[in-house]
Amino acid sequence: MSDYRLLIGGKLVAGDQMMDVVNPATEEVLAKCPRASKAQLDQAVAAAKAAFPGWAATPIAERKKALGAIADIIEKNAGELARLLTQEQGKPIGDATGEVYGTAAFFRYFTMLDMPVKVIDDSEHRRVEAHRKPLGVIGAIVPWNFPLILMAFKVPPALLAGNAIVLKPAPTTPLSTLRLGELIKDVLPAGVLNISTDANDLGGALTAHPDVRKISFTGSTATGAKVMAGAAATLKRITLELGGNDAGIVLDDVDPKKTAPALFQSAFQNNGQVCIAMKRLYVHESIYDEMCSELAKLADAAIVGNGLEQGTQLGPLQNRMQFEKVKELLDDAKKTGKVIAGGTVPDQAGFFIKPTIVRDITDGARLVDEEQFGPVLPVISYKDPEDAVARANASPYGLGGSIWSSDLDRAYALAEKMDSGSVWVNKHAELAPNIPFGGAKQSGLGTELGEEGLAEFTQLKIINVAR
Ligand code: NAD
Repeated sequence: MSDYRLLIGGKLVAGDQMMDVVNPATEEVLAKCPRASKAQLDQAVAAAKAAFPGWAATPIAERKKALGAIADIIEKNAGELARLLTQEQGKPIGDATGEVYGTAAFFRYFTMLDMPVKVIDDSEHRRVEAHRKPLGVIGAIVPWNFPLILMAFKVPPALLAGNAIVLKPAPTTPLSTLRLGELIKDVLPAGVLNISTDANDLGGALTAHPDVRKISFTGSTATGAKVMAGAAATLKRITLELGGNDAGIVLDDVDPKKTAPALFQSAFQNNGQVCIAMKRLYVHESIYDEMCSELAKLADAAIVGNGLEQGTQLGPLQNRMQFEKVKELLDDAKKTGKVIAGGTVPDQAGFFIKPTIVRDITDGARLVDEEQFGPVLPVISYKDPEDAVARANASPYGLGGSIWSSDLDRAYALAEKMDSGSVWVNKHAELAPNIPFGGAKQSGLGTELGEEGLAEFTQLKIINVAR
């Protein structure tokens, strides 16, 4: 059993302070966890800075080997990591196991990429080459909904490119990340990967740190704006993966009974605590009643409980703040729409809310316009698909969206009009390590994953030689 330590300069160290990590299914303290001081954060940055030149000079084949070794360790310890993830995050054990194996797969994917020198011009008068160089120290900041896999959007490409890292998990879900740090600490040279926790008080210091060259941030739009401001004084590179209010648009040619399970899964996976969850659903008026009742049946049948129990489909909300926020939006939705399933908070310990379907609600209601990040889905009726797309686009967010239809040409034409970083057809929220991912408008800046995601951890350097 781990006693949870920070990872600084290749050593497991106690935090200068401690904090409690709560199991959201029981509200009991799951573990005492180290909380880094500002001085320890500075030590982590200094360790990364010292380790960077050696790691940058390490042949890429060796760096890939290390990523592969980390993937092996994650898989070997999948059972323990998944259990811990369920206990700190709340998600059902099957989903947690999927996240752990997905994390390993993301590490493995980056072992297959290279950063070849690109020859731009090789003519009589000059040879021009484009090189990809590592940046230096990367600050990687992760939220609480997918602590491991979102870390794996950042750490493997940053390491492959030759950077050193200070990784900061979210204060309410630091344990699986700290345990992983303990498991992999000898795979990498000391200081190449450092893990420093906080109680939501050190993100600003990491962002402003003069020795950090880039911040790779996933979290809310409000915090993303603070990161952008904090990074400005030192002109850091930033990648921001932020909030969303993804719309799904269901056309009139869809069979409600057949399609409702996929729509339900798109909205309620991880209890709706997914940046690219379907957060508002527009359904054509001709199938609206039937779709609402199919969704309500699925919500009524969903098994809500402790993620460690067999059969649980939806766990608790991850933390009290989020629980209170979703309850507030639910109370408001009871006034602006009609709850046809769920809508209740079970009388028990844990941050549970029954999966809720709200109909007869429309744009302008808080539940439709805001990011709920919880298990309460507004279903909105529309007449004209072009108007539905316009309403989907009339949001400051632009992370993802989806069109559902049995006519792929029709769906594709509407997908082209959606103003978001990803658009899916007849599915929602599919991510893979080789598919670049990023948000439009206030949902983000830059790209993660794929070759484009790797490039964001590098400095483009042109060498131009006269002949
Ligand atoms: P959050 O913004 O509150 O916190 C995210 C991280 O930022 C945490 O580690 C937190 O400690 C840290 N942080 C807090 N203050 C900071 C500051 N001033 N400077 C730097 N870092 C700071 O987000 P959350 O509530 O943990 O996560 C939920 C949000 O994340 C939702 O809006 C969701 O849509 C979004 N999200 C986006 C993506 C994506 O890829 N676009 C993925 C998952 C979650």
